[in-house]
Amino acid sequence: MAEGGKASRGMMEDLAWVRQVRGLLEAQRDMGVTEIWVPDAWGELRREVEGCRRCPLWRSRRHTVFGSGDTRAGMMFVGEAPGDEEDARGEPFVGAAGELLTRMIKAIKMQRGEVYIANVLKCRPPGNRDPLPEEVEACKPYLLRQIELVRPKVLCALGRVAGQTLLGTSQPLSRLRGRVHRALGTKVVVTFHPAALLRNPGWKRLAWEDMKLLRREYDGLEI
Ligand code: SF4
Repeated sequence: MAEGGKASRGMMEDLAWVRQVRGLLEAQRDMGVTEIWVPDAWGELRREVEGCRRCPLWRSRRHTVFGSGDTRAGMMFVGEAPGDEEDARGEPFVGAAGELLTRMIKAIKMQRGEVYIANVLKCRPPGNRDPLPEEVEACKPYLLRQIELVRPKVLCALGRVAGQTLLGTSQPLSRLRGRVHRALGTKVVVTFHPAALLRNPGWKRLAWEDMKLLRREYDGLEI
């Protein structure tokens, strides 16, 4: 129970979920069912991505890069697409940009393992070129499903492609960052992609403002 005797939204939802499952199991027991099948939404989605050929990027990938972190996180980060190292290891944000993202997360007093991290595209575009609109369209359902499963309190879009994809807009990054959007049933803050920050260190001050905004939204504070 949270301070003051008030249960948090998460706790209430957990309790409702436990009651639902218990009711279902009791009904099955009463019907004489002795074996149950537990759906594994994350496993199914991961397997679907691993075998995906919805766009031509499957031909050149070494690994699909599904996502990582806490699948029940309150904060979720969405990048653009895997780079060379991510493609080699099958993990998102593992190169220099990944290290910077980890530092950005720590700067707002969180650990990388406490958030969920995914990309718009699950396969690497050759030569790290920008994703094509048809690739984004083909891959977007996987990201939307991940967001649906995580149900974060706040989403952070890293870079133009992620921001435009999550918000369904063609506005430039300069118009998207620095404020809070509402989309996909949650709040969305847009900031620079860490790789862009590595190329343009002068943007880090603006990125820090975005990260503070993200943290305030996560904490549920008014801005
Ligand atoms: S990028 Fe997405 S849509 Fe294209 S093959 Fe990979 S998983 Fe499928």
